[in-house]
Amino acid sequence: MSEIFKGAPVTKLIKERIKAESESLRQRGIVPTLGIIRMGNRADDISYERGVIKNCDSVGIESRVFDVSADTSMDKFVELLEKVNNDSSIHGILMFRPLPDHIDYEVIKNLIDPRKDVDCMSPINLQKVFEGELDGFVPCTPKAVVEVLKYYNVPLVGANVAIINRSIVVGKPLSMMFLGESSTVTICHSKTKNLPEVTASADIVVAAVGKPKMLGQEYFSENSVVIDVGINDAGEGKICGDVDYDSVVEKVRAISPVPGGLGSVTSAVLLSHVIIACKNIIK
Ligand code: NAP
Repeated sequence: MSEIFKGAPVTKLIKERIKAESESLRQRGIVPTLGIIRMGNRADDISYERGVIKNCDSVGIESRVFDVSADTSMDKFVELLEKVNNDSSIHGILMFRPLPDHIDYEVIKNLIDPRKDVDCMSPINLQKVFEGELDGFVPCTPKAVVEVLKYYNVPLVGANVAIINRSIVVGKPLSMMFLGESSTVTICHSKTKNLPEVTASADIVVAAVGKPKMLGQEYFSENSVVIDVGINDAGEGKICGDVDYDSVVEKVRAISPVPGGLGSVTSAVLLSHVIIACKNIIK
């Protein structure tokens, strides 16, 4: 019988730590605050925003939304970002992406104050990840993967890890985090030959393909620990992962479900970054 790596207990533990830290900051007169920058009114952004605000409330972090219309000019958007950058009462900044085409993302990611960059947009923070500095703003999803594995006591030193994703948001930074844990990492992608062979011989498989239920039993062995990062539309308002959970769950050693796995942990990691940001700013 497989072990199910549910996200909820991991999230609870991270949030308890954040709550204690935010209480101690508040006792010193500092209210940890997240500034949320949203451009336009996309339904998924608004629903995500609602979730973030609720999450912030639950751990004593204040949130402030700065929303502008989708046709706001680049100059006005830069002005807004500079205002939030310079507002000393805001410690972390979360910006919903993708931004509209007329907004130059290259400029924006270089403009965000690296000390407030809780979602790791700034090249300065990403560079730190690649230099092995992993206690700052690492991208939230990769960090959530490692948090889940550690919570469930999966040995990482010397483990063979296959990551199916080479994006800058997931696969690349995650590979650095596993290297930091002394794992041996294989990064797979759409051109990888014999993918099922590669993944089935790994101890840990991280799936972040973005294709609903693509990975069936043939991709895994009885010893596989499977972390499913995929969030795919399963119709009727439901989501599913990249792994064909029902067929795989009986075979592998452990698996994280979707929903109920990594998603809430990723959100909790984001909150923990607001506390780091707060400490950075008040130093
Ligand atoms: P992405 O940039 O599209 O990356 C997908 C990766 O999968 C690419 O490296 C791609 O290879 C690879 N791939 C695609 N088809 C493949 C195939 N048939 N065989 C092997 N590899 C294949 O997507 P992303 O933004 O990184 O997100 C990936 C998934 O993670 C999505 O489902 C997304 O919703 C989810 N996600 C979840 C969270 C979370 O918090 N849980 C956060 C972010 C993203 P190439 O590079 O060769 O194209």
